[in-house]
Amino acid sequence: MNDELKALVRTIPDFPKPGIQFRDITTLMLDRVGLARTVDALAATVDGKVDLVAAVEARGFAIGGALAVKLGAGLLLIRKDGKLPGATIAEDYALEYGTDRLTMHVDACAPGARVLIVDDLLATGGTALAAARLVRRAGADLVGARFIVDLPELGGAKALRDAGIPAESLFNFE
Ligand code: IMP
Repeated sequence: MNDELKALVRTIPDFPKPGIQFRDITTLMLDRVGLARTVDALAATVDGKVDLVAAVEARGFAIGGALAVKLGAGLLLIRKDGKLPGATIAEDYALEYGTDRLTMHVDACAPGARVLIVDDLLATGGTALAAARLVRRAGADLVGARFIVDLPELGGAKALRDAGIPAESLFNFE
């Protein structure tokens, strides 16, 4: 079944720069059956109670709200710098050139809350690890991370494993 979902992802060559094969999930999101099955398949990977789904801006938001409703959880928005109106904590992470910053509201999750991170795609794991540092700094119990797509050659799944974060994805692009 996940192969049918994978077939709905479009590959755009040379975006955002030459040599990159961009895996575009907007085509999967446009498909009403594919969208519902994606949410169902992600929910089926989750065992036990989740208090909050922590969705990473921006494509993580596309799936995070629906997954939170399905799991009976709340939704925690992890955003790029300068977007959240209240007091925030921040974590920087390395990009190929330079760094970027993720933030969350300092009071977004209670200590001990069971939090699941969600994003559309796992590449090097830098983004998810920064999100994980935020959630852990807040004292939450990080129960895992979920992605629609994994690019295993980039090592993100191993990086998350090494950080003690159980991660699953619905399918890979080699
Ligand atoms: P990482 O931090 O290297 O794991 O990169 C993952 C982040 O970059 C996620 O937030 C993705 O949305 C984004 N990303 C990287 N490559 C792609 C891609 O091919 N398609 C969609 N998003 C991507």
